[in-house]
Amino acid sequence: MPELPEVETTRRGIAPTVEGRELRRLIVREPRLRWPVPADLAALVEGRRVLATGRRGKYLLMQFEHGWLIVHLGMSGSLRHVHPDEAPRKHDHVDWVFDQAVLRLHDPRRFGAVLWHDAAAGPVESHPLLASLGIEPFDDRFDGGWLFRHTRRRSAPIKQALLMGDIVVGVGNIYASESLFRAGIHPRTAAGRISAARYDKLAAAVRATLDDAIRAGGSSLRDYVGAGGESGYFQIDARVYDRAGQPCRVCATPIRRLVQGQRATYYCPKCQR
Ligand SMILES: [Zn+2]
Repeated sequence: MPELPEVETTRRGIAPTVEGRELRRLIVREPRLRWPVPADLAALVEGRRVLATGRRGKYLLMQFEHGWLIVHLGMSGSLRHVHPDEAPRKHDHVDWVFDQAVLRLHDPRRFGAVLWHDAAAGPVESHPLLASLGIEPFDDRFDGGWLFRHTRRRSAPIKQALLMGDIVVGVGNIYASESLFRAGIHPRTAAGRISAARYDKLAAAVRATLDDAIRAGGSSLRDYVGAGGESGYFQIDARVYDRAGQPCRVCATPIRRLVQGQRATYYCPKCQR
């Protein structure tokens, strides 16, 4: 599943193609995504200039003068540059046609979305899909104090509290395990019982983990294709994720796996308390 680093990598990849450019055509071959692509969407955006790209959580944003396109890659979606003459393949559902390039949304499982938020309805952050999202991990306000304040009455394990996305966005399953390892926090620890000092470490670890993944071009996932169209991309150098039984890179204790909320968690029983 594309996570925040993949979406941010995609945003950076498409920004030079779309920012400041006029969208000539929007071709919707299959409107039945997670939510239907609005029937009037092409008429709304064709001939209009994309002012900027943005991202909120895992939602990719294209800002126009009169509103925003909100794009989600779902479970299996990717957005890539294609040559204008390249015939669409199966599952190529939407094209953004610019003078110099075509962006193509490929989404076999159709859990993705292409939606419109009109400027008349207020800032895009007020869209129902975005309004309840937690803070961005790279927002200046995100720090240990933020985590501490937003977890005081939470008895859920910290791993699951991070995955919820209402405290901070973008900490998906792989990144939650990796961040907790870097911070030395056991994934089963109740979120409400972690000290401010340990949350300072965790906030720094979350940022460092996501930053590493973004630098690496997003971590491994089968269906993801970078915006440049390359099929291979970097797997993060995981310290614990998917390393059950292998020695901890700090203390050589075998890494353990446990299941929390049907998701696998990996941790070092010695380094994480
Ligand atoms: Zn260890």
